[in-house]
Amino acid sequence: MTSSRYRVHSPLLVIGAGPFGLAMAAHAKGRGIDHLVVGRPMSFWREHMPKGMILRSACDWHLDPADRDTIERFLATRGQTPGDVEPLSLAFYLDYAEWFQARKGLRVRDARVIRLERSDMGFAARLDDGDVVTADRVLLALGLAPFAHVPEALAAIVPRERRSHTRDCAAPDRWAGRRVLVVGGRQSAFETGALLAEAGAAAVHVCLRHETPAFETSDWTWVEPTLDRIEAEPGWYRALPESEREGITAHFFAEGRRKLEPWLGPRVRHPAIEVRPMTEVAGAEERGDTLRVRLLTGETLDVDHVMFATGYKVDLERVPFLAGELLRRIERREGYPILDDTLQTTVPGLFVTSLPAARDFGLFFGFTVAVRASARMVALAF
Ligand SMILES: Cc1cc2nc3c(=O)[nH]c(=O)nc-3n(C[C@H](O)[C@H](O)[C@H](O)COP(=O)(O)OP(=O)(O)OC[C@H]3O[C@@H](n4cnc5c(N)ncnc54)[C@H](O)[C@@H]3O)c2cc1C
Repeated sequence: MTSSRYRVHSPLLVIGAGPFGLAMAAHAKGRGIDHLVVGRPMSFWREHMPKGMILRSACDWHLDPADRDTIERFLATRGQTPGDVEPLSLAFYLDYAEWFQARKGLRVRDARVIRLERSDMGFAARLDDGDVVTADRVLLALGLAPFAHVPEALAAIVPRERRSHTRDCAAPDRWAGRRVLVVGGRQSAFETGALLAEAGAAAVHVCLRHETPAFETSDWTWVEPTLDRIEAEPGWYRALPESEREGITAHFFAEGRRKLEPWLGPRVRHPAIEVRPMTEVAGAEERGDTLRVRLLTGETLDVDHVMFATGYKVDLERVPFLAGELLRRIERREGYPILDDTLQTTVPGLFVTSLPAARDFGLFFGFTVAVRASARMVALAF
């Protein structure tokens, strides 16, 4: 890397200041591991999750690898109990994360990494303000945002200016008075539909390929014990026969994807919302100000915008600052990095956590339940 205004070296650079990055920073601090966190604190939750969203996870999925500064402890400072705040609102969770960051004294450099490469100092990260951070080790804790996914066939049907992904629906009131088709059939599609309608959308169609999932409470009690096992024996999950790994994924899907939160049911029965199960988008054409969408059932819908709630698909090539030699040296399978027991990639010193770790450690890593185990596992490499 060429000239820069400012250079700093850190034994550990954590890229990302969401739940995984903050938990890592707290654990590193507790263990006396000198580190630097770069990212916008909780930016995905602030800027990409819809205002008014309610979490699926509860108070037990907290951020502290030392189990001290838990959500319950935060509540105690406010004279509250979990019963007062569950189901948790996005606003509450952000307050907790801010309290956690302050309580642990975590300093975060609010910047973006625009380039990461190997250097004679280990790694060199160029920031968007021109500064360069060099580090012996780097942890990527980038969450889901780079991996927002719209199936190609669907993307090809809808003109670019008429479509977006739910990742970009932080302000549902932007669609007040408009007609929106939400494509997708899981919690995010239904909750986005409810939030759009409540924010004044003229019409919301939720179009899904399957039957409407049941509005039923999910059982997550099995998750933490399984994760404990993965942390104690990091190779265990990876070494399971494929059928058993698929069984765990299926269990996750049964609780997470095939159920909708019970509190969502009444909100979806909103006069502006029409749910269209067992259908798919087949085509679309612009007619003046309107987009006429054709469904496989033969029906047509006149809308202003199509929002894809089609999830996230990991592909490390989509991380904008990873390129060239470094990316080539990270061995991958189906877009996911191959990781060792400490979440280290095949590039020594480069660690990856959060959703991209899900292939080797299970879907748990797509959720905040895994932030504590992740931090402790990475720290074993120090
Ligand atoms: C709609 C929705 C609802 C969800 N609800 C829940 C829930 O109820 N419970 C739950 O446990 N999980 C939930 N999840 C999953 C949850 O969002 C993720 O598990 C979690 O955000 C992952 O945390 P993270 O720290 O890896 O990344 P994020 O929270 O996505 O944070 C990423 C961080 O990386 C930083 N960053 C990105 N690029 C750069 C760069 N180039 N340079 C520097 N920094 C960068 C960002 O600024 C940010 O600080 C939900 C996800 C979605 C989409």
